[in-house]
Amino acid sequence: MATKKEVDLIIKNANELLTITGGSKKPLLGKQMKDLGIIKNGGLAVDKERIVAIGKTENITSQFRGRESLDATGKVVTPGFVDPHTHLVFAGSREDEFEMRLQGASYMEILRKGGGILKTVRETRKASRTELVENCKRWLKIMLEHGTTTVEAKSGYGLNMKDEIKCLEVVKILNEKQLVEVVPTFLGAHAVPPEYENNADEYVALVIEEMIPVIANRKLAEFCDVFCEKGVFSIEQSRKILLNGKKHGLKPKLHADEMTRLGGAELAAEIGAVSAEHLLFASDKGMKMLAEKRVIAVLLPGAAFSLMIGRYAEARKMIEFNVPVALGTDFNPSCWIENLQTIIALACHQMKMTSAEALVATTINAAHAINRANEVGSLEVGKKADILFLDIPNHKFLGYHHGVNLVDKVIKNGKLVVESS
Ligand SMILES: [Zn+2]
Repeated sequence: MATKKEVDLIIKNANELLTITGGSKKPLLGKQMKDLGIIKNGGLAVDKERIVAIGKTENITSQFRGRESLDATGKVVTPGFVDPHTHLVFAGSREDEFEMRLQGASYMEILRKGGGILKTVRETRKASRTELVENCKRWLKIMLEHGTTTVEAKSGYGLNMKDEIKCLEVVKILNEKQLVEVVPTFLGAHAVPPEYENNADEYVALVIEEMIPVIANRKLAEFCDVFCEKGVFSIEQSRKILLNGKKHGLKPKLHADEMTRLGGAELAAEIGAVSAEHLLFASDKGMKMLAEKRVIAVLLPGAAFSLMIGRYAEARKMIEFNVPVALGTDFNPSCWIENLQTIIALACHQMKMTSAEALVATTINAAHAINRANEVGSLEVGKKADILFLDIPNHKFLGYHHGVNLVDKVIKNGKLVVESS
């Protein structure tokens, strides 16, 4: 009788094992988003942080013996969630503005009065690197407990050379000090800082001529992003910044068509951005262009909900147009949501995405939005063993049973790191 191969970990008896295969090279589109690659009574073997086998439990247990073994009876097993859009690095809070918004003030009115992003900029500039690291560690721990194993984090509350660098250095430190992988994005063009009020072009020149070269050279970011919005950065300014970033090796991303129809989706397609984010007001033409250029639409229903914008991105239309759709939290002081399960529930209820589509959008498609689809986002041989046990009988409970944490266990890089009591 052949001896069994010994591996670090085996997982067995999953009611549904959701592999979400087929999307590692290209994001899943249209009807492909409904196929979760479900294995009933599934199992997998993990060795040296990676998945080495996947299949029916009996096939796994007949071939492998785990130094550790986890039983997923009655549970759904999925890839770890990937959050492709957060503004993780900040200090302070904005609960007073939340009350102003409840009384009818708009996000842009608050920003024009020096609140919003600019309030957080003041507080983040004052904060030390250590304070920021401690803040982020606390929030990343909450994210991990809710199933997020990879997260993107933007700078953008420094808005000068010194403080933008400080925030990106915080991300670097976080990758050494805690378990969630954090992917850095430079968002120096998040708002026009007070020193450049009424002189946005001069600030754009600073971003392009001074910040981008230094940040790219020091490898502090992988992506460059811009808040392209009426009253913030124009299409022309955004194009300039992103093309310059691209020249320095920073891949373009864009906050596009969030509050107004400015043509952000079209710009993202034109310059070959990796992703366009928000897109509440994207035009049909813009969506079709995103589909054609395979730009990932990162939809952020938590922001639409928190800012009470009164509409959501047209996810159904985008899926119909074969736009690759991902979902993120947009975690920031005006949208304080660490939990991607909340975003899945909002995506289902407000944008009519199905549980399966929302799961694809928070795993493999989200991984594409931050250039990690070759490593995470699906359960396939060779990929990192970032795995969740969800305490639900089948995947259709995602978005349906909400308001509680459905995560039972989190495995990060092959190690059990969260276990519900
Ligand atoms: Zn954002």
